[in-house]
Amino acid sequence: MRLLVSACLLGLPCRYDGGANRLAGIESLLEQHECIPVCPEQLGGLCTPRSPAECREGRVFTREGAEVTAEFERGAQATLELARLFGCEAALLKERSPSCGSGVIHDGGFSGGLTAGDGVTAALLKAEGIAVYGETRVEELPD
Ligand code: SF4
Repeated sequence: MRLLVSACLLGLPCRYDGGANRLAGIESLLEQHECIPVCPEQLGGLCTPRSPAECREGRVFTREGAEVTAEFERGAQATLELARLFGCEAALLKERSPSCGSGVIHDGGFSGGLTAGDGVTAALLKAEGIAVYGETRVEELPD
């Protein structure tokens, strides 16, 4: 199937600190699916490296307290546009991220705490009918 994939999971250095989160077994993922890489935070206009950000009460703030909700929403919309353009029915997104996380995200305290919820992009994709999987659920992806 055609799949949106968090670019950091494919090994691209787009994470806030300039690192990546390359997924073990990426070769078999690429064999089984047509992967469309996306980094919603970069698509929203944020640079790399950038300050880490977390969601709090429906908004997004950097560790220094600057609000970046608009950038996160812009990135989510751009990601949705790409999903529609390429006909993606599902997305494999990085867990716990304020953009890509689904089900559980960091709690806004910047101390490693977690809370129930979706990142901005994951929430939008789900609302638009696109199934979102975290990287630990890669085995559950449909063919
Ligand atoms: Fe990875 Fe998503 Fe964060 Fe980009 S926004 S670095 S794709 S988790």
